[in-house]
Amino acid sequence: MQVSQERMQIDSLHENWKAICKVKELFKGGYHNGVWLADQRGYSVGSGYNWVRHMEQKVGWAKLIWNPRVLPKHSFLCWLVFRNALNVKDKLCRIGICTDDRCCICDADTETISHLIMHCRYSRQVIHKVCSWLYIPTPGGNAIIWIGRRKWRPVQKGICLAAVMAVYFHVWQQRNLARIEGKLMRPMILVYQIQQIVKSKVHQLDLSTVSVRDREWLTLVGLS
Ligand SMILES: [Zn+2]
Repeated sequence: MQVSQERMQIDSLHENWKAICKVKELFKGGYHNGVWLADQRGYSVGSGYNWVRHMEQKVGWAKLIWNPRVLPKHSFLCWLVFRNALNVKDKLCRIGICTDDRCCICDADTETISHLIMHCRYSRQVIHKVCSWLYIPTPGGNAIIWIGRRKWRPVQKGICLAAVMAVYFHVWQQRNLARIEGKLMRPMILVYQIQQIVKSKVHQLDLSTVSVRDREWLTLVGLS
């Protein structure tokens, strides 16, 4: 056991060192004849960040994730989802940190990100109840992308995105609870919590600036 922990620590250090070297090689490209190309005043953390940022391809989902109606911690979790950066058991098994790759919540399939947010029966139940509450169909795949493609008014779209991202955040919390404490909240309690969060965001809306149709929809779903 001791030997395997030491092996894991060495592997982890090795991975970190490789990541540092990769960053060093990347930033070499920003210099020409020893001069930092992005800013005449020389290198700074800010100019380095912007230089790297502009090298990245723009992604269509970024505007959906960083929506003002969504709580920042929910946006951040979804950003990790889209970057495939959540430490689900499938990933942990592949890097040798664990041997059991079954879903912590349902134990019925391999725990991948797509399983957790799209296929796990627990998250399906929660997302279905939340979508029913909002009078929208339950998407079969990634609900954020699905909502992003709808031609809805910005208020309705923002509220639905806030609700779906709250689902993903809370499902991930439940997954961690199930893994650490072996507990799981009933889907209806989770749905109630999500509704309260969405309501608190709606209360920040200035209803005098909201269109009649949006106000009708808010009344229909019990948010005004
Ligand atoms: Zn599952």
